Parts: sequence; structure tokens; C-alpha cells
Amino acid sequence: MDQYEKALEKMSEMSEEQLSTLIDMQKKRICICKDCPSYNQCMAENNEGLFCFLGKSSCDLDLIQCKCGECPAHTNFLMKYESYCRKGSEEDQRSKEN
Ligand code: SF4
Ligand code: SF4
Repeated sequence: MDQYEKALEKMSEMSEEQLSTLIDMQKKRICICKDCPSYNQCMAENNEGLFCFLGKSSCDLDLIQCKCGECPAHTNFLMKYESYCRKGSEEDQRSKEN
């Protein structure tokens, strides 16, 4: 089990409240989507982010560039994919490998 899978397992053991607090905190602290040219007004209005865990954006978007490769979460959790707002979470993209 790698770092990303361990994080998913920990999240699955949390209460809804703990998970929602963690998600809000990490959207602010670690996620750099807000600095990405692909991050648009709709995403900001919906306070979206952390797509690597939460999956695709609910907004229409133009994928201009992806900064996930520069994000500490991407490194810490040994993620392999990018463009999560368009292509789905790391878990979703991994599941399409096979
Ligand atoms: S890897 Fe991308 S989606 Fe995930 S927290 Fe970092 S910037 Fe946000
Ligand atoms: S997931 Fe990647 S492309 Fe989408 S907003 Fe975040 S950094 Fe930009």
C-alpha cells in the first residue's frame, strides 16, 4: 500500500465531520489549484479543490495547464497522475490503468 492508498484508508476511517474539516483545511493549506490557470470562477465560487482526492470538478473548464506536479501533496502521496479536475481523482485514474 503506498502513501496515497494509506491516506485514503485513513480518510475512510474518519467521521463525516472530521473528514469535512480535514478537506477544508487541506484545500486551503496544501492545494495549489487556486494558482492554476485552469482554475476558474465557477470553481472558486464552489470552493473546489483537492480534486486528486475528491474527483472531477462540477464546473465546465478549459484545461490550460496543471500545476499538480508542483504541489506538495502530489509529492508526499506519491501520486502518478495530474489534471484531476478534468480527469478524476488519483484513485479514478489508477483504476483505469487495468
Ligand atoms: S495534487 Fe493538485 S488537486 Fe491535489 S492538492 Fe495538489 S494541487 Fe490540489
Ligand atoms: S487539478 Fe491541476 S489542472 Fe485542475 S485546477 Fe488543479 S492544478 Fe489546475
